[in-house]
Amino acid sequence: MEFIDLKTQQLKIESALNSNIQKVLNHGSYIMGPEVKQLEAKLEAYTGTKHAISCASGTDALLMALMAYGVKPGDAIFTTPFTFIATAEVISLLGATPVFVDIDPKTYNIDPAKLALAIKALKNNDPSIYPLPITSNQLPLTTRGIIPVDLFGLPADYDAVSSIAKEHGLFVIEDAAQSFGAKHKDKMACSFGDIGCTSFFPAKPLGCYGDGGMCFTNDDRLAEVMESIRVHGKGGHKYDNVRIGINGRLDTLQAAILLAKFDIFPDEFELRQAVACRYTAHLAPHSSLLTPHVPEGYMSAWAQYSLLSEDEAHRTELLKKLQDHKIPTAIYYPKPLHMQMAFEYLQYKTGDFPVSEDIAKRIFSLPMHPYLTETEQTSIANVLKDG
Ligand SMILES: *Cc1c(COP(=O)(O)O)cnc(C)c1O
Repeated sequence: MEFIDLKTQQLKIESALNSNIQKVLNHGSYIMGPEVKQLEAKLEAYTGTKHAISCASGTDALLMALMAYGVKPGDAIFTTPFTFIATAEVISLLGATPVFVDIDPKTYNIDPAKLALAIKALKNNDPSIYPLPITSNQLPLTTRGIIPVDLFGLPADYDAVSSIAKEHGLFVIEDAAQSFGAKHKDKMACSFGDIGCTSFFPAKPLGCYGDGGMCFTNDDRLAEVMESIRVHGKGGHKYDNVRIGINGRLDTLQAAILLAKFDIFPDEFELRQAVACRYTAHLAPHSSLLTPHVPEGYMSAWAQYSLLSEDEAHRTELLKKLQDHKIPTAIYYPKPLHMQMAFEYLQYKTGDFPVSEDIAKRIFSLPMHPYLTETEQTSIANVLKDG
């Protein structure tokens, strides 16, 4: 059994993949070839955004978004500690300060009530209101923006986050690395913030065969700046450089692969819904496990199907059982970011974000992909139910 089965998908689209790759080999425009523009146009239409700017990874997408806002040392960016390192890493990379905000215990996404408290604490420079990073040399920090993460494929609560952002004049960058295809009412993931950033890392809902990513925005100016940043801060032409940028382009070959994969993405999205429903039907009645909560009006992209065990010992026991039956599992994420050595310099303490710390000890993910069969799922559920 595979945790994510990319082989079955590959066989399904083999001829489209081969012909798309061959086309690139024939025309030879390996950098910014026609497939890149085609992909951007398709994903603009799909996400309902005006501009799609492809790039080299999800991390670069987040970096380009922050750079487009001119984020710099002394700036504070609010985000969650229960995410992949890249979300906060890009903030630090620009010399700005990640200000962590705990998650909602049901959705695992940023908790808007705590976000409001964190903003208030920062503005009043009062950590008794909410835990703050210690950044002795840069005080006071300037509140600039928020990066909510659509964890495991479920969009964050953007109605609440956006109204807080508006009140305080902050930008919102949606980390949609795991949520491409997800929805809230009639809006698509990647369109919830001022800029949406996704990843095409192979294991993501829409993945390529290497690294890739994309920024989405309705703002003409931000789009223009991100296009410039993507190619070394180019101005009117390649050797006219108007700002500091990066080499952040998406390879034409990866765009060609994504075009083949995107053709079956809407079908795969539906299959993922069915797989998730079957898991929940099997496991929800099992009282010692908590199945994922999808609030009314939301559709998850199901990047992961994650269960909550009773405690750390219970999780260890379940993972061992699954392993004994050769069922692959994963833990996203065993250590919240404020407890990572990389962020030690922020001087957060254990206990600062109790929900993230608790969930990190209890969460684990089951195999999840569109081609998981009912038989496989039943056998997984039986192993878990025996526990
Ligand atoms: C995967 C991921 C990223 C980074 O994407 P890459 O393409 O691997 O650089 C950022 N944020 C989250 C939440 C992710 O899951």
